[in-house]
Amino acid sequence: EQEDREPRLVPYVSHAADITDMPHLRIGEGLPGEAAAEKRVIHAKNVPDDYMITVNFGIAEALPREIVLFPVLYREEVLGVMLLAGVSPFRTGDVALLEYITNQIAVVLENALTHEQVERLSVTDSLTDAYNRRYMTERLNEEFSKAQRYEAQMSVVLIDVDHFKRVNDDFGHQVGDQALIRLTAAFKQSLRQSDILGRYGGEEFIIMLPHTSCSEASAVAEKLRQTVEQIVVSGMGDRRLSISLGVASFPEQRTESVDQLVQMADTALYEAKATGRNRVVVATG
Ligand code: GH3
Ligand code: MG
Ligand code: MG
Repeated sequence: EQEDREPRLVPYVSHAADITDMPHLRIGEGLPGEAAAEKRVIHAKNVPDDYMITVNFGIAEALPREIVLFPVLYREEVLGVMLLAGVSPFRTGDVALLEYITNQIAVVLENALTHEQVERLSVTDSLTDAYNRRYMTERLNEEFSKAQRYEAQMSVVLIDVDHFKRVNDDFGHQVGDQALIRLTAAFKQSLRQSDILGRYGGEEFIIMLPHTSCSEASAVAEKLRQTVEQIVVSGMGDRRLSISLGVASFPEQRTESVDQLVQMADTALYEAKATGRNRVVVATG
């Protein structure tokens, strides 16, 4: 079973090409992945013979000579990639025109979709680039089912920044935003490849740790707590940040749903707040 948890480019709609066998690519993988990762147009003039696409003319099929990939962006967020394959070379003017059209498509999408719909299409939070709540909910459910099925372990860590309102009050909302960005970067650096970090609410984060026991997760949480004490945020002078963390694990806490697991982490987090903040509390039960 596939173990990575990254978002993928999934072929969605096509004209004159069969997408059923096209691979689901990671961001950064292959030419479409590269266009998505770098948020730029890629014009490939030497398409390998074994490329994933053939162009269907109705009566015959041909290998493309060139392909052009256009990222469809909405406020710097990648919504998808449009791929055009040509059996004859594209002219420079064609590419510019198509790029213009792709941008128009993004504008149409922007107008047609509500903010929530756009949020639903994206998997990351635009401020911090951590995974968003919707994506985390999906992944948590998926991972919990797996853990149940294979009798594997998993842990969740909920994090809430201490007295964050004061940071905003004392240094302004923009500095507060910078602090959240800085925190996210520090979390990411301390985590393992398989751990998934999400922004769960304003100054709340959640980490899902697959195949991780309660004691391992507590150690990770404690390391994060110590790391945050060291963070220097420009604009905050000598003031340091601290976080409170709640840890809950399956099967240790004998939860029957992922909601219950998160709820237990939340209760533990609440206890960390109530007993003085800047600490890790492990769920009991
Ligand atoms: P506690 O230690 O009890 O968690 O105190 P707190 O002040 O962090 O708690 P509370 O939940 O009352 O306040 C959270 C604050 O976080 C309120 C809100 O202004 C701020 N906040 C939430 N999202 C953002 C954001 O995206 N940017 C900034 N700058 N501030 C945010
Ligand atoms: Mg909060
Ligand atoms: Mg807080």
